[in-house]
Amino acid sequence: MALRCSGLRRSFGALAAVDGVDLEVAPGARHALIGPNGAGKSTLFKLVTGTMRADAGTVELAGRDVTGQSEVARCRLGMSQTMQHASLFASMTATETVALAVQRHDGGRIVPWPRRRPAVRERAEELLAGVGLAGRGSTPVPALSHGERKQLEVAVALACRPSLLLLDEPAAGMSAAERARLVEVLAELPADITLLIVEHDLDLVFSVADAVTVLHLGEVLLSGTPDEVRASEDVREAYLGA
Ligand code: ADP
Ligand code: MG
Repeated sequence: MALRCSGLRRSFGALAAVDGVDLEVAPGARHALIGPNGAGKSTLFKLVTGTMRADAGTVELAGRDVTGQSEVARCRLGMSQTMQHASLFASMTATETVALAVQRHDGGRIVPWPRRRPAVRERAEELLAGVGLAGRGSTPVPALSHGERKQLEVAVALACRPSLLLLDEPAAGMSAAERARLVEVLAELPADITLLIVEHDLDLVFSVADAVTVLHLGEVLLSGTPDEVRASEDVREAYLGA
């Protein structure tokens, strides 16, 4: 498995936000995590990335137990997530932003002007093209639209050549056109990258995912194919009852 969570738990006081979750994400899967507001999706996401510590349970990345590893260590082992609070540098262009991430991953010296390093610049432009930002490289970050900044975040997340890409509600605040664009970007991700996406927008989920896990009150209600989830009476009730 690309990712395996076993018996994950995390409480906040008396509230069991994640209450014994088992989750398996197959290599190369486009796996979506859905569920009503407060289901525990973001908490589970943080337990997976290492942003938050679990009270109990284990997280395995490609067969390796990373439960005790920090967020940074998990990232080095192939996990990459988009930044929650777009801490993109306002003074940089799109290409410079991705070039910085490429250099950081390569362990090279950070030089401010990517044009001095043609290989870095080329890789940055390749990543931008891969997320649909070809031709936008010289645009300063503040001049990008909200949707374009999200695309840029995906390019930054891909700069470290992750095996597992984790996205928490990437479509939040996007226009319909930006959502459609995001669906294309995700459809064009390299096949060897496994995707785990938390998403509220079920249309987006069902156009991207090949596996879906439904969380409800901190527990897994159902894991299955998109069709199985769509057909489930329990899932419908969980959403309507929320
Ligand atoms: P989701 O992402 O599915 O909407 P969350 O994981 O954000 O759900 O939250 C699950 C539950 O845990 C909610 O009831 C939420 O209020 C609670 N919760 C989440 N984070 C914290 C926190 N840091 N402190 C206290 N309660 C929290
Ligand atoms: Mg959330």
